[in-house]
Amino acid sequence: MKRRDFCLFTAAAAAAAQTTLRADHILTGARFYAGPELQPFEAIALAGDRVYAYGARSEVLALASAGAKKTDLGGATVLPGFIDSHTHVASSGLNHLVQVECDLSSIEAIISAIRTRAEKTTPGKWIYGFKYDDTKTAEGRKLTKEDLDRATTKHPVAIRHRGGHSLYVNSLALQVRDVNAKTPDPSGGLIVKDAKGQLTGELRETATSLAMGPREVVTGNQRREGVKRITALFAKSGITSVHDAFGSPDDLHAYQDAYRQGELSCRVYGLQGYRYIDDLIKAGVRTGLGDEWVRVGAMKMTSDGSISERTARMSQPYTGRPDDFGIQVMSEEELYSYGVKAHKAGWQIGTHANGDVGIDVALRVYERLQRETPRKDPRFRLEHCTLVNENLLNRIKAINAIPTPFWTYVYYHGEKMREYGAQRLGQMFAMRSFLDKGIRVAPGSDYVPGPFDPMMALQSCVTRTDSNGTVWGANQKITVREAILASTRNGAYASCEEHLKGSLDAGKLADLVVLDKDPHAVNPSEIIRIKVLRTMAGGRWTFES
Ligand SMILES: [Zn+2]
Repeated sequence: MKRRDFCLFTAAAAAAAQTTLRADHILTGARFYAGPELQPFEAIALAGDRVYAYGARSEVLALASAGAKKTDLGGATVLPGFIDSHTHVASSGLNHLVQVECDLSSIEAIISAIRTRAEKTTPGKWIYGFKYDDTKTAEGRKLTKEDLDRATTKHPVAIRHRGGHSLYVNSLALQVRDVNAKTPDPSGGLIVKDAKGQLTGELRETATSLAMGPREVVTGNQRREGVKRITALFAKSGITSVHDAFGSPDDLHAYQDAYRQGELSCRVYGLQGYRYIDDLIKAGVRTGLGDEWVRVGAMKMTSDGSISERTARMSQPYTGRPDDFGIQVMSEEELYSYGVKAHKAGWQIGTHANGDVGIDVALRVYERLQRETPRKDPRFRLEHCTLVNENLLNRIKAINAIPTPFWTYVYYHGEKMREYGAQRLGQMFAMRSFLDKGIRVAPGSDYVPGPFDPMMALQSCVTRTDSNGTVWGANQKITVREAILASTRNGAYASCEEHLKGSLDAGKLADLVVLDKDPHAVNPSEIIRIKVLRTMAGGRWTFES
């Protein structure tokens, strides 16, 4: 039997099992990458929120029920919807709702954006910005308090760096919070001064809390509105499912509220911060509760520091800083103390672990949990899992853990890679090593720190080349097909939903993205220019250009 016939046969079986299912929407006029092996087909039939069948155009058209809708996609390419396996959803949505977006190409543009916001804001009220990156502006220097004073002297201004660990403020913010040249640096923080001992307006790590305004009260409506905005942006870029990497019960409320209002544009698997685990267990909640749109994810913990802010805990020091090995955030004992509760209660666990030491600690905890309380398929996650070696790879494979490496970092954060050094980059974001070991790697953006555009992600993983043309860790290149499978099929596995999504198969959810070009067919350095024409989740267009 030809593969195509087999697929139709599967669909027929699915239809027989659910007699109410009828092909009510036929998509043609595109190259449809469908089936578990991502093969090209001519057409696809949908029934409600599910895929009904795929195959040759004439065969699929013959399945149309009376009155079925028919859409010709005009020569496009269709892939399964992308799954961002590590991103921050409700929290970044709130930023989009209330803060000024500062990922602009010059300091002048940032000043102008803040000035525009100031004109609409009552004097004295704080203005916040996010996504500022000192390495991405034309001036080639950092923001200063004088820059921000030019935007407004009537509002305290605080702009957070894209990575999250530094803050840039204006003179009024310093004045209001009584921070001056004599203020001592707090432990674990730095108030940056120039050569003359004057404050520049930059504050690092724990010092950022010195010059923040009062914490604004966030309402349920604002959270819902934030979720509406951010999930619309995900849908616009071809994403149909996201794993919220560090959520809270409040965020779960926001997703449910948005869903009820018809405002949720992608499916959310919500990891829950470890501090909520007692309450959640007491309430009878565990991983998997929910439905295809909003589901409780793993419990989330943090082993070590960050890659973009250069605090990941490593066995070898940072290049040029011989005494700096990074930071271990939670100790092995502390990770175990939360992990054991979650593991025994049947939760999946996800641990943020970037450096080789951070990953070793997380794996030791997972290995101990399985030794003491073996579970058949705990499906442990290693969030980011950036810097690996042969020993770690073998242990990840042995315990069947799922790494979720940054999918756009090589392309987007290339200039920060120098602090890791070229050699170490051969073992970072190690997509090739994971796949060669048979590890089900499921990459993600970590938005806000990393951009979420899946086309940038494919290009980054396939070319290992940054936006300036420098190649980092060429040995870790993977193929376009491998990158797509990791970002679709493996994403579904990471949320234990491989029976529901991750490929366009009969009976699975109709989650797909329509592209103007086929990423398999273009020059890999031009994948980023491919346009998303439409996105569909559950048979409904969530984005149309
Ligand atoms: Zn994260």
